[in-house]
Amino acid sequence: MLTEIIEREHITRFTEWLSDCQKFVIVAHTNPDGDAIGSSLALYHYLQHLQKKAWVILPNQFPDFLGWLPGADSVLFYNRHKDEANKRIEEADVICCMDFNRLDRIDEMATKINESKSRKILLDHHLGPDQFANIIISHPNQSSTCELLFRFLFDLGYFEQMNVMVATCIYTGMMTDTGGFTYNSNNPEIFSIVSMLLSKQVDKDLIYRKVNYNFTANRLYLQGHILAGMEVLPEYHTALLTLSNDQQQHFHYEKGDSEGFVNMPLQIKEVIFTCFLREDKEKNLVKVSLRSIGDFPCNVVAEEFNGGGHKNASGGELRKIDIKEAAEQFKKVLKKYKSLLDECYNQHPK
Ligand code: 5GP
Ligand code: MN
Repeated sequence: MLTEIIEREHITRFTEWLSDCQKFVIVAHTNPDGDAIGSSLALYHYLQHLQKKAWVILPNQFPDFLGWLPGADSVLFYNRHKDEANKRIEEADVICCMDFNRLDRIDEMATKINESKSRKILLDHHLGPDQFANIIISHPNQSSTCELLFRFLFDLGYFEQMNVMVATCIYTGMMTDTGGFTYNSNNPEIFSIVSMLLSKQVDKDLIYRKVNYNFTANRLYLQGHILAGMEVLPEYHTALLTLSNDQQQHFHYEKGDSEGFVNMPLQIKEVIFTCFLREDKEKNLVKVSLRSIGDFPCNVVAEEFNGGGHKNASGGELRKIDIKEAAEQFKKVLKKYKSLLDECYNQHPK
């Protein structure tokens, strides 16, 4: 049986909302990942099952390899359909905020959501949630928002009737946020949930292939090129990857093509911390992605880059800077963490 981690009063209150309300808007963070879109679409299918009107509104596009998720075609993108999205937000009885802790994680949608008088619920697993919602279900020890959502739906009494669309979306988010159950996934209950999802006809092998074996040839050429330019900093147990704007043009880069690159240097024996820097000329910034193994808190480092996230996976951004300057800045920041990196490496040798 699953441990009940969600406070009963939240379940009772949301159950009341379900009987009082008809129109639900579901939002998730900018640059939505498998967990953001998986949790949003799972909730969407659940609400549809209850004959509610529901809309998923995301700040911007999700990567192509998630486009097969059931319901993905119905998503509204705020950056493209602002008028319609604003109308849906204005008319919503309930706004469900999935997989983000602070309003600045939804960029320009933040004002609209904040101003809205609708009831709001937040379901998330990032540390330190903003207090903008009436119901805040924040559990940073959960592997994913999808795991948390499964528990939420279970507590709402929705397991017997769970359909394959809900189960597929939840499984996808759990799988992607744990790197295919390779990190943050030692809690045995995660596998109880997976087992329960499989009983709903989820095809986990197919999901794995759809997510991971779905690349263009250009993506693999780019991967080879980026890895060839990798900088390993053994004294810091760290590796750095960079992707400049020129390289993106050369390899016909499309959004999502560099998904997962940041994890690759963790395969090196001595490396416990990686950084991937990607130039974004349009936004005039460099996107920073950080990953670690063991106790090294990359979210603390991410704060130096105006970001945050989880202990082992976090990110941020550097504005008005080119990729070379960003790499120098990263190496400068790294110096401050040398003793902590040594300590963490010595505690958790691979
Ligand atoms: P990724 O490296 O895949 O872009 O992001 C990994 C995780 O870091 C995300 O799930 C999110 O928790 C966090 N993250 C990424 N970028 C940012 C950012 O700009 N600001 C904050 N606060 N968190 C971020
Ligand atoms: Mn997540």
